[in-house]
Amino acid sequence: MPLKGLDKIKNMGNSVAKVIVDIALDKEFDYEIPIELQGRVKVGTMVSVPFGNSRRDGYVLSLAENSSFDGKLKSLLGICGDRAHVPEQLVTLGRWMAEYYCCSQEQAIRSLLPAAVRSGKIKPRKRKIYRIADRDAAQSFVAINSAKPSAALRVDLLKALLSGGEQPIETLKASTPAFSNSSLQTLIRKGLIEISEELVRRDVFFESKVIATQALKPSQEQAHALALIKKMLNHETASHVLLLLGVTNSGKTEVYLQSIAMALEQGKSAIVLVPEISLTPQTVRRFRARFGDELSILHSRLSDGERFDEWNRINNGEVKIAVGARSALFAPFRNLGLIIVDEEHESSYKQSEAPRYSARDVAIMRGKLENAAVILGSATPAAESAYNASIGKFLLSRMTEQVENKLPAHIRIVDQRLDEEPKPGKSGFFSPMLIDAVRDRMSRGEQSILFLNRRGYARVMICEECGFEARCPDCSVAYTYSKMHEILSCHLCGGVIPAYSSCPECGSAKIRYAGLGTEKIESVAKAVFHPARIARMDSDTMRGADDYEIVLDRFRRGELDILIGTQMIAKGLHFPNVTLVGIINADLGLAMPDFRASERTFQLITQVAGRAGRGDIRGEVIIQTRNPENETIYYAANRDYNGFSKFDLEFRELLDYPPYTHLIAVFFRGTDESQLIQYATDFTRAVQAYVHSEIKIAGPSPAPIERIKGKFRYMLVIRGRKLKLLKQALRILVLHRAIPKGIDVYIDVDAQSLL
Ligand code: ADP
Ligand code: ZN
Ligand code: ZN
Repeated sequence: MPLKGLDKIKNMGNSVAKVIVDIALDKEFDYEIPIELQGRVKVGTMVSVPFGNSRRDGYVLSLAENSSFDGKLKSLLGICGDRAHVPEQLVTLGRWMAEYYCCSQEQAIRSLLPAAVRSGKIKPRKRKIYRIADRDAAQSFVAINSAKPSAALRVDLLKALLSGGEQPIETLKASTPAFSNSSLQTLIRKGLIEISEELVRRDVFFESKVIATQALKPSQEQAHALALIKKMLNHETASHVLLLLGVTNSGKTEVYLQSIAMALEQGKSAIVLVPEISLTPQTVRRFRARFGDELSILHSRLSDGERFDEWNRINNGEVKIAVGARSALFAPFRNLGLIIVDEEHESSYKQSEAPRYSARDVAIMRGKLENAAVILGSATPAAESAYNASIGKFLLSRMTEQVENKLPAHIRIVDQRLDEEPKPGKSGFFSPMLIDAVRDRMSRGEQSILFLNRRGYARVMICEECGFEARCPDCSVAYTYSKMHEILSCHLCGGVIPAYSSCPECGSAKIRYAGLGTEKIESVAKAVFHPARIARMDSDTMRGADDYEIVLDRFRRGELDILIGTQMIAKGLHFPNVTLVGIINADLGLAMPDFRASERTFQLITQVAGRAGRGDIRGEVIIQTRNPENETIYYAANRDYNGFSKFDLEFRELLDYPPYTHLIAVFFRGTDESQLIQYATDFTRAVQAYVHSEIKIAGPSPAPIERIKGKFRYMLVIRGRKLKLLKQALRILVLHRAIPKGIDVYIDVDAQSLL
């Protein structure tokens, strides 16, 4: 009888760990937890396990009392003690991500820990601190030996520590001019001085001091938003998500700061997500000024060491707030109260490699799992968020007025069709209205920004005789021409060839470079606005992070009159002396083969327009277009987000696009086109079994960009409701079935780009 009882006890508690191993990506394996490790192995712990004939590292996804595996279970070999573990609360989130985004468990779990932390290669930085070990003994040593020249060095050292307190070696050297290491060692041996080790934080801040700020007295609109957020933090609202729809300068950031303060008061922590580009020193300074160094800034330019330190500071509970781009969402806080997603519509929140998650949507899920409130802030929310607010799934708070009652910039539309025939000497790029406006600014010592939306668009080489267009042979896109280097380059694979002087097809010399790039605009602007000081910012001129800061600094100091640029200058820049923004060709983005083209164009125009008039002088925006009747341009020029949103949602509902459906894109890539088509067709047939009346499936068909780096691309677009079963099928097809060699497949759930 007693034996039986003992057996029971032994089987109680969790003796089986379900482990995911890097080699098997999506399959959990059961291992027995040896007695000596029981209690120490937890969900998220990194363990070593026997796998085949080798030893592998993996993560524990869950614990169980017993296993359904028939054979004898192998035992865990040990805990990877020096490696970081995934906090348990994030493991649940990772499992959800794997399922929702159809990626492997391993990929999802890995993305929860920064590589710098996961690798185990980085160690905390420590330094030695010296202090008096025995005060009385030290004092009497000084008293006895003060007059002895032979003991002068030792006396100096003791005096420095007695009066200066504990200190690192550098300080000790500075305060004892005749510092001698052998004297120091002697005193340590004698037990008069002792050493301890202290963690040193690798400093991540760009500057050391900021002036502290207090909460500002909220405007009426801010007060209203804050009252709602307070209820949300107290779990008194129907939803844990609030959409803060506030125009630029309406004081959204101030609302974030005060909301964080409320969460801290509750003893909770907060995460602030910002698009990488807005993680500028300006933003960082505002957060530090309010919260001091109790803040972790997770910048993409952190070194591995800094990233490691910051993760540990968060994990140890030393900081309460993390600010950063996408991956900051996985900051290992244990008592999360609030997640803020600033500029929630930004496409940079969607990760372009597996797991292809949307940080906004995962933030909402993390909030739900951990009982935290979520604030989504934007002047131009994504259709998905606007829709969720309209059906009551999210709370909504609007802020329509700029703080200090500033007038928003004056927006004018120029119909460029009237300028269809460029006269000799005139470029046709700049309308007379824009030219006058820029010259006007120059005469007043004010600055202008000229913006070109170049996404999916470039200056291409065309033969006027035969119509030949220079295209990259490996990728199915037109080459971009650079006049500066006389080259043609491919933006997808980076391939470069010298520019043609005659057509390679027909030999004609009538080569034309169609379209306009920023480079061309810059050269024309130099002629038209002579002697203006002009700089250009785009991904061609801005190679390093420093180039960006250098140009912006010159602009800020007033050393430039005109800044020409692409998307790169659309966001976040705050230059009070910029009173004019010219949008060279507002139509470019609208032609993209993408159902989000209107939304993106609206967001971009709104953002660019927001760069004008941030100082005391009212700003002006001039939009050049050949489609002045286009709804998107009309609503953007009228600052009518609601009008645009209604128009855009109607269009999406009519065509069954998100947010009325879910959209999943499956991409197939391979070098052998017929094999690829065959596989994509078989794949589609297998998926068809899960298609019901509420699901539409299109393809497989060639992707809009048919080839990249020599690989053919096909895609399957699935739209619909109730996709759960179908998603499970997709997961199995991609992760658990053999895929022919030479082909790869990836699934993009809630795809942002269908190119
Ligand atoms: P947004 O994030 O919506 O663009 P900000 O929070 O940056 O707006 O506010 C714009 C400017 O107005 C900032 O300079 C900010 O310091 C100031 N501001 C915000 N709220 C207030 C307030 N309640 N009282 C006074 N100034 C404010
Ligand atoms: Zn290419
Ligand atoms: Zn030709």
